This record gives sequence, C-alpha cells and structure tokens, in this order.
Amino acid sequence: MRWVGILSALWIGLSNSASSQTVTWTGTGIPRIDSMCQQFQQLYTRIREESVLPDSARKQFSDIMFGLRGKFQTAEPFRLDSARRDSLLRSAYFSFPLRNYTPDAIGGTHGEGYRAKGFDLFDYNVRGSHPAQDIFITDRNQDCIDDHTDRPADVLAMTSGIVLAIETAWTPGQEYRGGNWIWVYDPILDGLWYYAHNNAILVRPGDWVQSGQKISEVGRTGYNAYPARSPTHLHLMYLQLQPDGLPLPQNPYEWLLTARNLN
Ligand SMILES: [Zn+2]
Repeated sequence: MRWVGILSALWIGLSNSASSQTVTWTGTGIPRIDSMCQQFQQLYTRIREESVLPDSARKQFSDIMFGLRGKFQTAEPFRLDSARRDSLLRSAYFSFPLRNYTPDAIGGTHGEGYRAKGFDLFDYNVRGSHPAQDIFITDRNQDCIDDHTDRPADVLAMTSGIVLAIETAWTPGQEYRGGNWIWVYDPILDGLWYYAHNNAILVRPGDWVQSGQKISEVGRTGYNAYPARSPTHLHLMYLQLQPDGLPLPQNPYEWLLTARNLN
C-alpha cells in the first residue's frame, strides 16, 4: 500500500506546488496544460453552438486527449499497471459528489436514470439519451438552499483530476442544457467527469482538484433543470476514453454506491 501513500503525497504536492493551485509543469514537446484546457473549452463551446462538424470535432477532441495523456504519462505517479490501478480504485478512490448525501439521493431506484443509447458528444442535435446519474438534494421551494442544512449543497469532486473547462455564464432563457458545468480529466482513470446544473463554481481551468474537494454548489442552471418541473439536482456523467482518444459513456452507478460519503 506504500505507493498509495506516495501517490496521495504527490497529489497533495502537485496541488500545493503552484500558488494558484494551477498545474504548470511542462514536458518537452508537449503543449502546456493551460493551452490544452483552452483548446478543450473552445472546442466544447463550438460543439454546443454547432459551429464545428461532428467529424472535425471528434478529431480535435482526440488530439487534445492524446496531449493530456502524453502530459500526465510523463509524470511517474500516473504510470500505473492494471493491478495497481485496480487496487487504487478499491481504496477509497471515489468520493460521493454531494456532501451530506448518500446513494439514496440518486434518481430512480437502481440507477436506471442512466440511458447511454444514442449519445454523441459531438453532435449537439442528438437528443433523448441521458448517459448520466442525477443526484437530488432536498429543496422543496427550489431556492437551491438545502432544506436540511439551510445552506447551498456542496458538489465534491468524485476523483482527483485537472479541471479542463467550466461554464459560469448561463442565464435563464438560454437553451444550453448543461447550464453551468465543469469538465475534469482524471489521468488515472483516463476519463472525463462532467458536473452540470451548478450554481457557484469554485474552480478554474488548470486547477488540480482532489477527490472530495468542493468544486461547486448545486444549482438549477440549464434549459431543462431550471423549470419548476425539475427537482434540484446534480447531473453527473463519466466518459471513458478509448485507445483512439474518443469518449464512451460509462455508468458511474457502481462507483457511486462504493464512494466514501463526506459530511
Ligand atoms: Zn441529468
């Protein structure tokens, strides 16, 4: 288990090394993290605005992901064989993404709110799928103040990773479905987390976040999340990167069940 300790220490080291919590180390011949974040932010905005063709978006996305992999695989703690990786995933790797909540708050009785069929990250016109879990807070009057604590509900990072992009400017009336969202790349899982419908967002692109760290507060931002018919919730999606750098949705339900609950 020693390496887990080393890894944790390294993560803490990484997050403490730069004053702004921004990861700025550079490897030779590999683009800087901040430029990859910028590229991702621009690409995702263009996908949403449908100003890039899906095939071109796929190619650009895959290039950015190869860049990220190259970046992190040059850092020793992220180079894990499959046995070490599996062991890490069993050792309190995941944090439940809402403080003071448990899997009871997940929509549906057995996570059946997850429907990946037909999902295409690169074609904003494709609708009907929901490759995500919705996790609901107690908010009867829909003011985004938790009825139990009288405070906003904290969204916590499911795993450690680098914040790639955020949206903070959603306003009611906009048709964008995610509202204020956060994208995080986890170099151990080699996958992307997407947290949507947030109110306040507390992280910036380039920030390294620790598993369990507060990254935002639950909100009602987003075209479908804003109307009264929608109870206040976090929309959580995980995309597993494939060898070609393209994303495949994966149901995070089992991970949510085994995640540690933070109060
Ligand atoms: Zn959802």
